[in-house]
Amino acid sequence: MKYICLVPDGMSDLPVPELDGMTPWQAAKTPNMDKLAQDSLVGTVLTVPQGMYPGSDVANMSILGYDPRTYYTGRGPIEAVAMGIPLSPKDVAYRCSLVACDGVTLLDYSSGHISTEEATELIQVLDKKLGSRRFKFYPGVSYRHIMSWTNGSVNLKTVPPHDIQDQAITDYLPIGDGEEELRELMFDSLDLLDGHPVNQRRRDQGKQPGNMIWLWGQGFAPNIPDFFRLRQKQGVVITAVDVVRGLGRAAGMKVIEVPGATGYIDTNYRGKAEYAVKALADGADFVYLHIEAPDESGHEGNIDHKVGSIENIDRYVIPTILQGMQKVDHLRMVILPDHATPVSLRTHKEGPVPFLLFDSRKSERSSNIPFNEIALEDAKTRIDEGTDLISLLLEA
Ligand SMILES: [Zn+2]
Repeated sequence: MKYICLVPDGMSDLPVPELDGMTPWQAAKTPNMDKLAQDSLVGTVLTVPQGMYPGSDVANMSILGYDPRTYYTGRGPIEAVAMGIPLSPKDVAYRCSLVACDGVTLLDYSSGHISTEEATELIQVLDKKLGSRRFKFYPGVSYRHIMSWTNGSVNLKTVPPHDIQDQAITDYLPIGDGEEELRELMFDSLDLLDGHPVNQRRRDQGKQPGNMIWLWGQGFAPNIPDFFRLRQKQGVVITAVDVVRGLGRAAGMKVIEVPGATGYIDTNYRGKAEYAVKALADGADFVYLHIEAPDESGHEGNIDHKVGSIENIDRYVIPTILQGMQKVDHLRMVILPDHATPVSLRTHKEGPVPFLLFDSRKSERSSNIPFNEIALEDAKTRIDEGTDLISLLLEA
């Protein structure tokens, strides 16, 4: 028996006038998903517990079977695990975003999507000048970095920089235990980085500088039970994003990198499916196959990209899986978005999402409920605890 959980991130959406009141998922041509739905159980699942922010970290943790109310400690530590950063039980990991700021207003949460090479140089300056036995700075990709704070505080209110673009930073600086130290680091970073040659060059090129750090998403290292010990299944994670990579690593699962997997609409759809099939042929029991492209399209507010990414998943991922798994006598697969990322909102939305459960041995007819947002109205199977879905998949 082999199991697959296919997660097109943020695929769920809302009706848009440009598509005559359909959602991008409904408007997308998805003959393979439509055919699967005819023989599958179609239902809805609440991936994010009520009251929690519908972030990909929380939602994917829940789909993997770990209750975020128990195990979620913050986004920083999950990404730190993904980056292989050693965290002791005393270390608090913060997301350390490199932002553009004029000292008053946050101008760009991504520093104009600064290159990893330039950002690494800047973060290394900070580690040299501000780093200590307590504070360490670890360069990541583009504007996304990590700061660890030994014996640090988690009891602060912090705000993601993408939520305060073009707003005065004074209203959103860390508040709580240890706020003075964090604020000092943030303003010291502005002094150190503003005139740095990397930023002078970026300004000359008409680009936003990476001249300040923004600290948020703090937490202690997640203590997630081992997936194999819990489920007696060898699990593999395939993804292009650190949040999901970190969850997989924290759960002791093997994380497989796929060439050409970009986390964007130009990703290697077929390759990701081929690697999933190969991992199962090589002995894995369960593959968590995560595809970021629909979510990115939702954040961009780009209807064409969103429709296109869903069609690409239907055209390249699903047939590759079904053909590749033909030799396997029994396959069970769920397909679901982790949450909705409506193009009209350009951010995540709470609420249940549709899921499809396919079993190669038995046909489950759900009285012709289509696998898209229509299921939110029509489906009879409704799962209120996101963590129950994987138990259903694994028949645990
Ligand atoms: Zn997501």
